[in-house]
Amino acid sequence: MQVKTFELNPLCVNTYLIYDETKEAVLIDCGASSQTETGKIKEYIGAHHLNLKRLLNTHLHFDHILGNRFVYDTYGLKPEYHTAESGMPGLELQAPSFGISIDYQPVTAGHFIGDGDRISFGNTVLTAIWTPGHSPGSLSFYCREDNSVFTGDALFRHSIGRTDLWGGDARTLITSIRTKLLTLPDHTKIFPGHGPASLINEEKNYNMYLFRG
Ligand SMILES: [Zn+2]
Ligand SMILES: [Zn+2]
Repeated sequence: MQVKTFELNPLCVNTYLIYDETKEAVLIDCGASSQTETGKIKEYIGAHHLNLKRLLNTHLHFDHILGNRFVYDTYGLKPEYHTAESGMPGLELQAPSFGISIDYQPVTAGHFIGDGDRISFGNTVLTAIWTPGHSPGSLSFYCREDNSVFTGDALFRHSIGRTDLWGGDARTLITSIRTKLLTLPDHTKIFPGHGPASLINEEKNYNMYLFRG
């Protein structure tokens, strides 16, 4: 499995384009907010002859979904996410508080993903892991074959997601991380929603947020 990372929009969201030898691909959290950014994704997909099959959202904070409209208009794919995110204030309500105006209709869910669901493309299988706390329906996507997990804003390198936004809960987040992410094999690579990659073992040993209480 190949992982191409795009760091996008003013909040520096990691948008992950993952694909394998079959050239089938999925996008995780398309944060593209300008033509320059959507152009980079389109160009990469074109240059590598990829066949984009699905658009997965770890959660629905606006910085992670700014490019959903672009993906729908360009590739005909609707976003897939956990149903518990459905109550989140829409993109058009979240974005203006960060100075970004939305002049288009946000895209609704194509499909809901539940805890333990398997997401297949090409020869690759991702397993959805429900990791609530940063938001009620936050999902992580785990690839056992490739020893990788995409954690959205639940777990970062040496940090964790904030819990003061809509539907956030600190205790729930810590429980999610401890029971559902730190239990993955030590050598599992972590691809977070913001910032650099890490390893499960690294976070077990050095993530101070996980040592409290
Ligand atoms: Zn978030
Ligand atoms: Zn974020």
